[in-house]
Amino acid sequence: MTAVDYDLEFREDGRVIELISIGMVADDGRELYAISSEFDQPAVRRHPWLREHVWSQLPIVKNWEGVRGVDRLDLDHPDVRPRAQIARLVHDFIVAAGPDVELWANWGAYDHVCLAQLWGPMIALPEGVPMFTHDIQQEARRLGIRWDELPKQEGGEHNALADARHNRTVRRWLATRAQERTA
Ligand SMILES: [Mg+2]
Repeated sequence: MTAVDYDLEFREDGRVIELISIGMVADDGRELYAISSEFDQPAVRRHPWLREHVWSQLPIVKNWEGVRGVDRLDLDHPDVRPRAQIARLVHDFIVAAGPDVELWANWGAYDHVCLAQLWGPMIALPEGVPMFTHDIQQEARRLGIRWDELPKQEGGEHNALADARHNRTVRRWLATRAQERTA
Protein backbone atom coordinates (compact mmCIF):
# COMPACT_ATOMS: atom_id res chain seq x y z
CA MET A 1 0.00 0.00 0.00
CA THR A 2 1.18 3.52 -0.77
CA ALA A 3 -0.56 6.32 1.09
CA VAL A 4 -1.29 9.80 -0.18
CA ASP A 5 -1.97 12.17 2.70
CA TYR A 6 -3.75 15.31 1.75
CA ASP A 7 -5.49 18.39 3.02
CA LEU A 8 -7.65 20.99 1.37
CA GLU A 9 -8.50 24.49 2.35
CA PHE A 10 -12.00 25.28 1.19
CA ARG A 11 -14.87 27.69 1.61
CA GLU A 12 -18.15 26.10 2.53
CA ASP A 13 -21.50 27.61 3.34
CA GLY A 14 -23.75 24.61 3.93
CA ARG A 15 -24.43 24.20 0.20
CA VAL A 16 -21.14 24.66 -1.60
CA ILE A 17 -17.68 23.28 -0.79
CA GLU A 18 -15.32 25.36 -2.91
CA LEU A 19 -11.64 24.51 -3.29
CA ILE A 20 -9.15 27.16 -2.24
CA SER A 21 -5.93 25.13 -2.04
CA ILE A 22 -4.71 21.56 -1.93
CA GLY A 23 -1.63 19.89 -0.46
CA MET A 24 -0.67 16.26 -1.06
CA VAL A 25 2.26 14.16 0.11
CA ALA A 26 2.97 10.60 -0.96
CA ASP A 27 4.82 7.87 0.92
CA ASP A 28 7.38 7.91 -1.91
CA GLY A 29 8.31 11.50 -1.02
CA ARG A 30 6.51 13.39 -3.79
CA GLU A 31 4.63 16.54 -2.84
CA LEU A 32 2.02 18.67 -4.57
CA TYR A 33 0.68 22.07 -3.68
CA ALA A 34 -1.74 24.15 -5.71
CA ILE A 35 -4.08 27.07 -5.21
CA SER A 36 -7.22 27.43 -7.29
CA SER A 37 -7.41 30.55 -9.44
CA GLU A 38 -11.19 30.19 -9.53
CA PHE A 39 -12.49 30.43 -5.96
CA ASP A 40 -14.75 33.29 -4.93
CA GLN A 41 -12.18 35.73 -3.59
CA PRO A 42 -14.62 38.33 -2.22
CA ALA A 43 -16.49 35.58 -0.34
CA VAL A 44 -13.24 34.35 1.22
CA ARG A 45 -12.19 37.89 2.19
CA ARG A 46 -15.60 38.50 3.78
CA HIS A 47 -15.33 35.31 5.84
CA PRO A 48 -13.55 36.33 9.06
CA TRP A 49 -12.07 32.88 9.82
CA LEU A 50 -10.91 32.21 6.26
CA ARG A 51 -9.52 35.70 5.93
CA GLU A 52 -7.44 35.32 9.07
CA HIS A 53 -6.28 31.73 8.71
CA VAL A 54 -6.27 30.87 5.00
CA TRP A 55 -6.32 34.00 2.83
CA SER A 56 -3.43 35.45 4.88
CA GLN A 57 -1.19 32.53 3.79
CA LEU A 58 -1.91 32.80 0.06
CA PRO A 59 0.17 34.80 -2.43
CA ILE A 60 -1.64 38.12 -2.41
CA VAL A 61 -1.27 41.32 -4.42
CA LYS A 62 -1.91 44.07 -1.89
CA ASN A 63 -3.69 47.31 -2.71
CA TRP A 64 -4.54 46.14 -6.20
CA GLU A 65 -4.49 48.91 -8.81
CA GLY A 66 -3.41 51.32 -6.10
CA VAL A 67 -6.61 51.01 -4.10
CA ARG A 68 -5.83 50.72 -0.41
CA GLY A 69 -7.23 47.62 1.24
CA VAL A 70 -8.15 45.91 -2.02
CA ASP A 71 -6.18 42.71 -2.07
CA ARG A 72 -6.45 39.96 -4.64
CA LEU A 73 -4.89 36.60 -5.30
CA ASP A 74 -1.66 36.79 -7.30
CA LEU A 75 -2.78 34.94 -10.42
CA ASP A 76 0.77 34.99 -11.81
CA HIS A 77 2.14 33.02 -8.86
CA PRO A 78 3.30 29.55 -10.01
CA ASP A 79 1.21 27.77 -7.34
CA VAL A 80 -2.01 29.38 -8.61
CA ARG A 81 -3.69 27.27 -11.29
CA PRO A 82 -7.08 26.74 -12.95
CA ARG A 83 -9.15 23.90 -11.50
CA ALA A 84 -8.83 21.79 -14.67
CA GLN A 85 -5.06 21.93 -14.40
CA ILE A 86 -5.18 21.04 -10.69
CA ALA A 87 -7.46 18.10 -11.54
CA ARG A 88 -4.88 16.76 -14.01
CA LEU A 89 -1.98 17.24 -11.59
CA VAL A 90 -3.86 15.56 -8.74
CA HIS A 91 -4.93 12.65 -10.93
CA ASP A 92 -1.35 12.09 -12.12
CA PHE A 93 -0.09 12.39 -8.55
CA ILE A 94 -2.50 9.77 -7.19
CA VAL A 95 -2.08 7.34 -10.09
CA ALA A 96 1.72 7.51 -9.77
CA ALA A 97 1.36 6.08 -6.24
CA GLY A 98 0.23 2.79 -7.77
CA PRO A 99 -2.97 0.74 -7.94
CA ASP A 100 -3.13 0.08 -4.18
CA VAL A 101 -2.98 3.77 -3.23
CA GLU A 102 -4.90 4.89 -0.13
CA LEU A 103 -6.06 8.45 0.38
CA TRP A 104 -5.80 9.75 3.95
CA ALA A 105 -7.04 12.98 5.53
CA ASN A 106 -7.95 14.32 8.95
CA TRP A 107 -11.69 14.86 9.51
CA GLY A 108 -11.69 14.24 5.80
CA ALA A 109 -15.34 13.96 4.72
CA TYR A 110 -15.53 17.47 3.27
CA ASP A 111 -12.01 17.13 1.85
CA HIS A 112 -13.01 14.00 -0.05
CA VAL A 113 -16.09 15.59 -1.60
CA CYS A 114 -14.23 18.76 -2.53
CA LEU A 115 -11.41 16.67 -4.03
CA ALA A 116 -13.79 14.47 -6.04
CA GLN A 117 -15.61 17.53 -7.37
CA LEU A 118 -12.44 18.55 -9.19
CA TRP A 119 -13.69 16.12 -11.85
CA GLY A 120 -17.36 17.07 -11.61
CA PRO A 121 -20.13 14.73 -10.47
CA MET A 122 -19.40 11.52 -8.54
CA ILE A 123 -19.74 9.38 -11.65
CA ALA A 124 -16.95 11.32 -13.37
CA LEU A 125 -14.32 10.31 -10.81
CA PRO A 126 -11.43 9.11 -12.98
CA GLU A 127 -9.96 5.64 -12.97
CA GLY A 128 -7.29 5.24 -10.32
CA VAL A 129 -8.72 7.76 -7.84
CA PRO A 130 -10.07 5.94 -4.75
CA MET A 131 -13.77 6.43 -4.04
CA PHE A 132 -13.18 7.11 -0.36
CA THR A 133 -10.65 8.72 1.96
CA HIS A 134 -9.39 7.00 5.08
CA ASP A 135 -9.82 9.21 8.11
CA ILE A 136 -7.15 9.73 10.76
CA GLN A 137 -9.93 10.34 13.28
CA GLN A 138 -11.53 6.98 12.53
CA GLU A 139 -8.21 5.17 12.90
CA ALA A 140 -7.55 6.98 16.19
CA ARG A 141 -11.00 6.00 17.44
CA ARG A 142 -10.45 2.40 16.38
CA LEU A 143 -7.28 2.34 18.48
CA GLY A 144 -8.95 4.04 21.44
CA ILE A 145 -6.80 7.16 21.11
CA ARG A 146 -8.43 10.54 21.73
CA TRP A 147 -7.92 13.26 19.12
CA ASP A 148 -6.09 15.43 21.65
CA GLU A 149 -3.58 12.63 22.27
CA LEU A 150 -2.42 12.73 18.65
CA PRO A 151 0.91 14.42 17.73
CA LYS A 152 0.54 18.20 17.60
CA GLN A 153 1.34 20.29 14.55
CA GLU A 154 4.38 22.51 15.06
CA GLY A 155 3.23 25.30 12.77
CA GLY A 156 1.82 26.25 9.41
CA GLU A 157 -1.75 25.26 10.26
CA HIS A 158 -4.18 25.97 7.43
CA ASN A 159 -1.52 25.93 4.78
CA ALA A 160 -2.72 22.86 2.90
CA LEU A 161 0.75 21.43 2.27
CA ALA A 162 1.88 21.93 5.88
CA ASP A 163 -1.35 20.27 7.03
CA ALA A 164 -0.87 17.35 4.61
CA ARG A 165 2.66 16.80 5.93
CA HIS A 166 1.35 16.81 9.47
CA ASN A 167 -1.38 14.33 8.50
CA ARG A 168 1.34 11.98 7.26
CA THR A 169 3.15 12.31 10.60
CA VAL A 170 -0.02 11.48 12.50
CA ARG A 171 -1.01 8.60 10.20
CA ARG A 172 2.44 7.01 10.57
CA TRP A 173 2.32 7.54 14.33
CA LEU A 174 -1.03 5.74 14.44
CA ALA A 175 0.33 2.92 12.26
CA THR A 176 3.13 2.42 14.79
CA ARG A 177 0.60 2.31 17.67
CA ALA A 178 -1.43 -0.26 15.73
CA GLN A 179 1.67 -2.38 15.09
CA GLU A 180 2.68 -2.31 18.75
CA ARG A 181 -0.68 -3.77 19.67
CA THR A 182 -0.44 -6.69 17.31
CA ALA A 183 3.24 -7.38 18.15
MG1 LIG B 1 -5.94 22.49 6.44
